[in-house]
Formats: sequence, structure tokens, C-alpha cells
Amino acid sequence: MCLQNNVELVTGAASGIGEQCARMLSNFGASVVIADLSLEKAQRVASSIVATGGKAIAVSMDVTNEESVNAGIDRTVKELGGIDVLVSNAGTQIVAPVEAYSFADWKKILAIHLDGAFLTSKAAIRHMYVGKRGGSIVYMGSVHSHEASRLKSAYVTAKHGLLGLARVVAKEDGARGVRANVVCPGFVRTPLADKQIPEQAKELGLSEQDVVKNVMLKETVDGEFRTVEDAANTVPFLAGFESSALMGQSIIVSHGWAMN
Ligand code: NAD
Repeated sequence: MCLQNNVELVTGAASGIGEQCARMLSNFGASVVIADLSLEKAQRVASSIVATGGKAIAVSMDVTNEESVNAGIDRTVKELGGIDVLVSNAGTQIVAPVEAYSFADWKKILAIHLDGAFLTSKAAIRHMYVGKRGGSIVYMGSVHSHEASRLKSAYVTAKHGLLGLARVVAKEDGARGVRANVVCPGFVRTPLADKQIPEQAKELGLSEQDVVKNVMLKETVDGEFRTVEDAANTVPFLAGFESSALMGQSIIVSHGWAMN
């Protein structure tokens, strides 16, 4: 995998899966940009990568805001000389049945997941064309890019939408050296997953233990959560794939929950 000396920007990299993606890409010798809503947390992650010999900078970025996205990508290009890989990972979750799902929450979920993926792709791709540099975009989808679950109308809609965006980017930009693919993890114990356990228990009238066992992990072959490493391990593979053969694909990492 040719990731050494690449410039790789990960959104939502101050926590969970995104943080692990950034650490993993740094281990391959890339300069990583920790882009997150929380600059303080992003700086902490960047500092700890630098402290262990890696190259990292922190950037404040709200992926739902075009100016903020463009400023973060421009700063990356100015300070590090370009951008080779975008990992569009920032996300959140809000659970409620459709009839009670507030329109504001619906728009928030779609904005972070879909507007964020679109705006960061748009800003990064322009720089990937310069000098025929090329590049790779990895979207953090979910098993919910392929499967539905109760209480998650906006999230499932957004995660399905990422498959469409990745395929269009691959069709439009593949011939110009920009590949796009999607990683689709099952449940990973991060703040995003932990928050929804009591919320689902309340909505479904179950204990938190039952939510974990009989809702979240029910369809897996072994009742196990994925780890941040499981999810992040697929990113260097997709990002660093050495030919344009692999694009517009999604890889599901779910302990057998979904096998599309
Ligand atoms: P997390 O809560 O640990 O991290 C999410 C990060 O995104 C946070 O650092 C947060 O500050 C950042 N963020 C939120 N809104 C943002 C915005 N507007 N602009 C910039 N940054 C923003 O969550 P995670 O579980 O690591 O989730 C990362 C991605 O993985 C998400 O896209 C999520 O949907 C996906 N995913 C998670 C799971 C899971 O079970 N945890 C499963 C499948 C997919």
C-alpha cells in the first residue's frame, strides 16, 4: 500500500473510529489531519500522534458548514502540500420512531453524514485533480448502509445515501485518478454507540442488557461488538489500493450480521 508520505485528512478524528483511522494511517507513514468539531480534542489526538513520532496537525472543522470545510481543506493543502486521502467519518446518532422523530433531528443527521460527505468530497477532489495527483476517498458507512433497524430512519437513510455518493464519485472521478469506497462497520463501542443503548432501552421498553444482546448484536454470529481496530483496518487497504480497479465498493465489517 502506497500511503507513505501521503497527506490524509480524517473527519471526526478526535474520537472513536476516526481517531483509530488517523492513528493507523499515521503508522503507514502518512501526514494526518485530525479534523473535528472539537479542536481541543483534535489537538490532543494530533499531539499524541506527534509524540510517538508521527506527523499530524489538528484542524477545526464543522463538516456541515461549507466555509469551515473549505478552510480546513485549504489549510491542509497550504501546510502539507496537497491532499491524497479523505476519510469522511464524522457522525452522530439520534434514535426515535418516525412519528416522533423531530424534523430538526432528521436534518441534523442528514447534514452531518450526507452534507458532510458531499462538502468534504467536493473540497478535496479539486485538489486531487491538481497536477493529476489523484487520490482516494473512504466514506464511513455502516451496516446501516445495507440494512434497516427500528428507530433509525435518518441514520439508515443517510448511510444508504453514502453508497450512492461513493458510486457517483467513482464514476465521475475514477478516470481522473480519484477512487471512492465505503467501509460499513457493525456496532463498535464508541460514544456514538454507547449513547444509544439507554435511549433504545427507553424507546423499546427493554433493559440495556437486552438492547445489547437482542437488538444490537442479535444478528452477529458470535454476539461480539466490533472494535475500532476492525473498522479502521479496512481503511488503509481501501485508501492505499494500488490500482483503479477497486472503486464504488463497500466492505462490511460486522461479525456476520450483514453479508451483501
Ligand atoms: P464518535 O462519537 O466516537 O466520534 C464521532 C466524531 O465525529 C466526534 O469526534 C465528533 O466530535 C465528530 N463530529 C460530530 N459532528 C461533527 C461535525 N459536524 N463536524 C466535524 N466533526 C463532527 O463516533 P464513532 O462511533 O467513532 O463514529 C464515527 C463514524 O463511524 C460515524 O460516521 C458513524 O456513523 C460510523 N459508525 C459507527 C458505528 C458504531 O457502532 N460506533 C458503527 C457503524 C458506523
